[in-house]
Amino acid sequence: MTELATIAGHLDALLGTITIPDYAGALNGVQLANQGSITRVAASVDISRRIVDAVVRADANLLIVHHGMFWGGAQPITGAAYDRLRVLIAHDVAVYASHLLLDAHPTLGNNVLLAKTLGLEPTGGFARYKTVDVGVRGETDVATRDLHDRADAFAQLHGGRARATRIPTDRRTRRWGICSGAGASTDTLLEALTLGLDTLIVGEGPHHTAVAADDAGLVVIYAGHYATETLGVRAVAEHLTATYGIPSTFIAAPTGL
Ligand SMILES: [Zn+2]
Repeated sequence: MTELATIAGHLDALLGTITIPDYAGALNGVQLANQGSITRVAASVDISRRIVDAVVRADANLLIVHHGMFWGGAQPITGAAYDRLRVLIAHDVAVYASHLLLDAHPTLGNNVLLAKTLGLEPTGGFARYKTVDVGVRGETDVATRDLHDRADAFAQLHGGRARATRIPTDRRTRRWGICSGAGASTDTLLEALTLGLDTLIVGEGPHHTAVAADDAGLVVIYAGHYATETLGVRAVAEHLTATYGIPSTFIAAPTGL
């Protein structure tokens, strides 16, 4: 029997919950406690009523999420937020959130695992946030169109499609950067140019990033916010199964983005 406190202590140390900076609303670590031992772990990118119902159906009593319950800051616990919480507490389900730490982690992180999935080998960091590199970068020699097609195949496994800025015929990718989720921004484009990268693979980004990238000779491949953040939570759940023998389930809930 493994208690929540044991698992939480292990994950806090493994992921750097206390030491790695994040947005205030991310609230990394245990967001909701429970009363019993953990008997089954569920993992999902987000938390929603649909996901909470799936956790209950899976008979899990610990939910690992990437985007936790407090994104918008302090909010009244009414409506959908109340319903989610009521169901979680009624079924004694604990919630543990891990955001930027799970993008940045060297073995369980979204970015290192996305690189591996796309056949790329990271050699450094990318997408600096305060004191951490959230993303990864590396070198290769591959047709950019092929890289797009790999990202698209991956996105389709998670209910999405990859899109990209203009890819000139015969263009090759030699220096790439990856940042999952909302990875394309004015800051990451500037950082990419400073580092001499030619191709970025991100989850999503605003329209102006596509315009600026094309002007700068960068190709940005947008593989989907949801798809690019499925890997970390799943890896954490599998890690808990391997470490404590607790069965785990990934709850797929594609957002279409
Ligand atoms: Zn995200």
